[in-house]
This record gives sequence, C-alpha cells and structure tokens, in this order.
Amino acid sequence: NLALDVEAIRDEFPILQREFDGQQVVYLDNAATTQTPDPVVDAMSDYYRESNANVHRGIHHLSQEASEAYETAHDRVAEFIGADGREEVIFTKNTTESENLLAYSWGLNELGPGDEVVLTEMEHHASLVTWQQIAKRTGASVEYIRVDEDGRLDMDHARELITDDTEIVSAVHISNTLGTINPVGELTELAHEHDALSFIDGAQAVPNHPVDVKEIDADFYAFSGHKMAGPTGIGVLYGKQELLEAMEPYLYGGGMIRKVTFEESTWGELPWKFEPGTPPIAEAVGLHAAVDWLEEIGMEQIRDHEQELARYAYEQLEDEGDVEIYGPEPGEDRGGLVSFNLEGVHAHDLTSIMNDHTIAVRAGDHCTQPLHDKLGVPASTRASFYVYNTRDEVDKLVAALDDARQLFA
Ligand code: PMP
Repeated sequence: NLALDVEAIRDEFPILQREFDGQQVVYLDNAATTQTPDPVVDAMSDYYRESNANVHRGIHHLSQEASEAYETAHDRVAEFIGADGREEVIFTKNTTESENLLAYSWGLNELGPGDEVVLTEMEHHASLVTWQQIAKRTGASVEYIRVDEDGRLDMDHARELITDDTEIVSAVHISNTLGTINPVGELTELAHEHDALSFIDGAQAVPNHPVDVKEIDADFYAFSGHKMAGPTGIGVLYGKQELLEAMEPYLYGGGMIRKVTFEESTWGELPWKFEPGTPPIAEAVGLHAAVDWLEEIGMEQIRDHEQELARYAYEQLEDEGDVEIYGPEPGEDRGGLVSFNLEGVHAHDLTSIMNDHTIAVRAGDHCTQPLHDKLGVPASTRASFYVYNTRDEVDKLVAALDDARQLFA
C-alpha cells in the first residue's frame, strides 16, 4: 500500500543493483548519505562535458553558461525551501560548514559574557561542538533543552531556558539518532519572544519533508546536498536577508568583494559575499537536478513513504522482544530512521553481521555522543530509509538479527 512506484524509482539508481558475495545491496544508511539518481549524475556530467568553466561572470561563453547555471541553482533551492530569493541561499560545503559559517560570522561577533546559546540534548556534533567552541572563545554559555524519556524535547524546560539572556536557539529539525521531529516553529517563536535568533539544522528534514523556512520563521536553516539525492561537496545556509546583510563574512578572498585597495576591502552582494573562491559549481548543478527530481516525486509522498517504512521497521523490531529502540513511538513526530540495540550484542558487531548480509546500516554514536551518554549506551545501530527502500529490505534487516543472536548473544 505504498503510494510510490518504488521499482521505477530504483531503476534510476544502478548502485542499488550492486552485489557483494552474490547478495544484492540493501542500502539503509540514508541518514549518512543518500544514493544519487541518474538524472543528477547526468546533469553533473553534462555540465563537465559541455559548460565547464569558472564562474563570476567571465566574458566568454562558457563562463557565462557556468555562471548562469551556478546562480540559477540558488534560485531553485530558494524556491524549494520557500526563501525569498537567491540572496538568502548561501552555498557551502555541507551542513557542518553552514553551521560554522553562522557561528564564526555571527556568533564570534555578537556573543559575549552573560549571553546564552540554547541547544537541545539531541544536537548533532556539527552544531554542538561548534557552539561549544564559540562560547568558550566569547565567554557565552551553552544550555541544553532536555530530551525526555520518550525521546522528545521537554518544552517546559525550553520555556524555562529561553530567556532574555538567550541570543540564539539552535535546534535540530529531525534528530539523526532518535528520529524525533522537533517543534522548530514553536522553538523559533520562543526565541523571538525573547529577541533571540533561531538556527535550525535541517540536515535530516529537507531530504524527506516539505520544508518552508518562512513558515517556520527560522532566522537560519542548514542542510546538505548529499543527504537529498544530490552530490557531496555542497550544502546550504539559508538566512533572512536583513540578517545576512548585517553579518560579516568569515572566509575572505576572490569573488566576494566589491572594491579592494591596499588598505581596505568592501564586500559584494548576497549571497556571493559568503562564497569566496571557486565555488562547488558542478555540485550546484547536481543539487539543482536533485531538487527537480525530488519535487517531481513530491515531498509529501517521500515523507509518507519513509515514515511508513520507519513505522514498519519499528514495529518489526519491537516484536522481536530483545531489541531496544530509541526515540518516540511511530507517529506524526517521528521521521524515517530507527536506532536500536540488540540485547547482549555490541552495535558494531551487529552492524558487521548485517554487512555479511550486504545490509548497509550504521553503528556508532551518530555524532551525538552526549545523547548516547544520556541513553546509557556507547553506540547504537541505525537503519535509515529513503524513497527507494522497500518493506522487503526491512524484513531482511530483521531476519539478520538471528545470526547476531547465534553468534554473540
Ligand atoms: N546535522 C545532522 C542532524 C546530521 O544528521 C548531519 C549528518 N550526519 C549533519 C548535521 C552534518 O552533515 P554534513 O556531514 O553533511 O555536514
């Protein structure tokens, strides 16, 4: 009863046909990186074959074509997330760099002793470590909104923590470990009530949910191309135009300036002010193609497919009886991934057994070490789904648990 023509979608991913030891790959590591469909690969190879040149509006035809493609990719991404225009869409290397851009450009200049940065206990290291370091350098302090027993944010605690001393609230939209979909609109509203800003880490949300940054009213929002059927090497930082206008760049160089003398420099227009040097041009072309590809399928359909698979996986794993699953029960506020542990078996051993069956899942702390400390486990195994996954693949995952029990438990 899945609404999508998954077989037709799978045909666009030759990698899903790969076999190791005669077994077809079951790719359930999508929260780390999704696979790339042919139209995206084709768009990038066409670019290299036909239009490759440096950007920044060179005079020759090829540079004009490359510039046009690079700039238009910003417009397409802006439209996709509901931003006002290319001025609000900065291309970076990945979510991590987007986060660092904000922390260095805004945080280092605006934060000081007495200021508070409010995070959640389920932040990815990309934001947690970054804000920690910026706080150390500025004298600001970092506070964490508690995660409750069910894997949800304790919003009463959020209301306590967010005060007039808060300068920014930085929250993950969908947790890459718990799968929790956080009320980021509400957190943003709380931040705004206290004249604070909001930064939302959308690395796990933009790939598989309709996201409208204006509806959330987020001041800043970040995500990565490689988790949304696009290429590696490109990420996005969305920011409200007036805030980006007021921010200092943190990387300097060619392509971002207006006027340079031996003494002084002034900065160019948005978003180029934050994109010095030769940018990821082919990757921008690939990201554009990925957005087209996703929208053709439909973000609601992708969300429903993934949530249904995650619910199925959750229920199958729960039925096993010796599997501990982290995060909320399946429902409206749970996304398309399931992290778990099999009783008596280390996550790395379990994941290695899965690999013997050519099932790709991830073991570790998923860049949320403090959250794992809180859960009281060093690691978990994470199965994460995308638009091309099937129930049959979930069944294979569950069936492989038996091998692990026999070997380790
Ligand atoms: N935030 C979240 C929630 C993530 O899941 C990830 C990727 N695991 C990141 C940030 C970092 O993304 P990237 O490695 O593309 O910078």
